[in-house]
Amino acid sequence: MNDSHAVVVGGGIGGLSAALALHRHGWRVTVLERAAELREVGAGLSLMANAVRALDALGLGPALRDGGHGEAPGGIRDRHGRWLSRVDAADMVRQLGTTALGVHRATLHRTLREALPASSVHTDATVEHVEPGPDRAEVRYRGTDGGHTLAADLVVGADGLRSRVRAQLWPRHPDPVYAGSTTWRAAIAFPDPVPAAITWGPGAEFGMVPIGAGQLYWYAAVNTPPGGHAPDELAAVRERFGDWHDPIPALLTATPPEVVLRHDIYHLAEPLPSYVRGRVALLGDAAHPMTPNLGQGAGQAIEDAVVLGAVCAGGAADVPGALAAYDAQRRPRSQSVARASFTAGRFGQQLRNPVALALRDIALRLTPGRATLRGMARYADWSPPAG
Ligand code: FAD
Repeated sequence: MNDSHAVVVGGGIGGLSAALALHRHGWRVTVLERAAELREVGAGLSLMANAVRALDALGLGPALRDGGHGEAPGGIRDRHGRWLSRVDAADMVRQLGTTALGVHRATLHRTLREALPASSVHTDATVEHVEPGPDRAEVRYRGTDGGHTLAADLVVGADGLRSRVRAQLWPRHPDPVYAGSTTWRAAIAFPDPVPAAITWGPGAEFGMVPIGAGQLYWYAAVNTPPGGHAPDELAAVRERFGDWHDPIPALLTATPPEVVLRHDIYHLAEPLPSYVRGRVALLGDAAHPMTPNLGQGAGQAIEDAVVLGAVCAGGAADVPGALAAYDAQRRPRSQSVARASFTAGRFGQQLRNPVALALRDIALRLTPGRATLRGMARYADWSPPAG
């Protein structure tokens, strides 16, 4: 253990990954999470090859391969079930060196938490203010027993989409904006074999991802104004997707209504000019909230964490230099993934003009699987820094 101390604001996938990356490089870490209990809401996740490699770098690849479901994404279908584009699993492994992984969010979150010293995580701890330095950073937070202040060599703002750390340190930067779609998600018991695949209809998408142990994660998205809620969200999904191809109706029948989650999609339309202020680094959704169309949000958070750990491997001696390297390595990549994800949504899930839809579907059918794979590899082909 070097004598360096990092405070991580937020105990989501990004915050726990950052804490673990720093812990593995000898840092003492304190994670402050405002929720009373450390847990991950949501259903499943697709972890693309880059995210799987980042988890390997954190030493968690084997556990998550065991706890999840390794599979190449099967491809894209139309609402009648006709394949528009297929990805060959063997080609994918050849190109990227690993398959993607479907995993329950709770499994990933628990695996990260269990790899950290239990004493490093504090729940019921809401961060109210961060002082970025220059010589020492400070974090003020409120616990159940009142206010506290912690000094730190490094502070990681991993407090998600509505990041207080981002708002405090970049006060004039525009907030995340609604991306035009709402999503429903559920993790269910569904032991029948199902390919990981996406289905597109006009202004709508349905995805399914096996996540291991006889479980499957499905998600559905439609174009709609923000803020909507249905008295029965499962019924709302059935109304839109109940007559789509098999096994979508069977998946909806196998879904208990109470496990369905609904969230509007927000993203940071204007990228941040920096992820770093003094001794504070933003990470994950706090730095680059993106639409889920490329299944990369959590993957980018885990990559951020691995790079942050690597640049801080020397301890607290040169935190400003380390954070400059973090910003240089992470900002261009994560912001280009965020842009690509938004564009993928525009031409995929959100497209509704019948002529544009027909042209897109023809173009997809005519594109060889290998070319589709090359497109995917642009974002999934990432390796952790050496050392
Ligand atoms: P969060 O998970 O939001 O965690 C932030 C944490 O900070 C929370 O625990 C919160 O309670 C805490 N916090 C907030 N404020 C404070 C405070 N002031 N003090 C203390 N704690 C605080 N990504 C993928 O890689 N693959 C996918 O398939 C995928 N699918 C998705 C589907 C949907 C519908 C959505 C919406 C997102 C999807 N994502 C996916 C993106 C992924 O979920 C996020 O990018 C990822 O969870 C972000 O993690 P995070 O830790 O940065 O933020």
